[in-house]
Amino acid sequence: MGSIKEYFSSVGSGVKSLLVGMGVTGKELVTPKITEQYPENRATLNISDRFRAELTLKYDAEGRHRCIACGICQMNCPNGTITLKTKMVELPDGKKKRKLDEYLYDLGSCTFCMLCVTTCPQDALEFSNDFEQAVFTRDKLVKKLNYRPEVADPAPAPKPAAAPKPAAPAAAPAKPAEAPAKPAAPASETKPNEAKTEN
Ligand code: SF4
Ligand code: SF4
Repeated sequence: MGSIKEYFSSVGSGVKSLLVGMGVTGKELVTPKITEQYPENRATLNISDRFRAELTLKYDAEGRHRCIACGICQMNCPNGTITLKTKMVELPDGKKKRKLDEYLYDLGSCTFCMLCVTTCPQDALEFSNDFEQAVFTRDKLVKKLNYRPEVADPAPAPKPAAAPKPAAPAAAPAKPAEAPAKPAAPASETKPNEAKTEN
């Protein structure tokens, strides 16, 4: 008797579950569709600015980036996603300086943690929201971020002419002669109470 009761109980709960599921399906049947018609709607797509799609170097209006090739982003990257190649260049004043040669970024191994961006002392990095990154081979995901032609550094500003030094002050007056030395103390003094008495 107990097993028949359990049987009908489980059938009832199954029917109830089926009706709940059919109710959700019926509701979605009449809900307005929100399917994005990609790529037809590419021109009107709204991708959030903070979406992290690809690491990039920031460039100014003249095409210069701010990277000084310090290597901090490379050291902080947990995946070895960043590979920096540097070169030594000679400055107009004859001094040597290390500069960025190649900034290689492997999008295929990036976890988008942003450690590189937040630790860069030059604020030279950012993430773009360009989400269309599909390629056929992984090696195409390795990108050179300093892809623009190198722009020469601006010439250093000429140093201002040195102001004439003020004339040295007149020599200080000679010190007065030292006070005469104190008279020397007597060689030995015998205190009255220390005098020996002969008996
Ligand atoms: S991007 Fe920033 S942290 Fe990385 S090497 Fe350039 S200056 Fe250094
Ligand atoms: S976001 Fe994270 S994983 Fe990607 S390059 Fe920067 S530090 Fe490396």
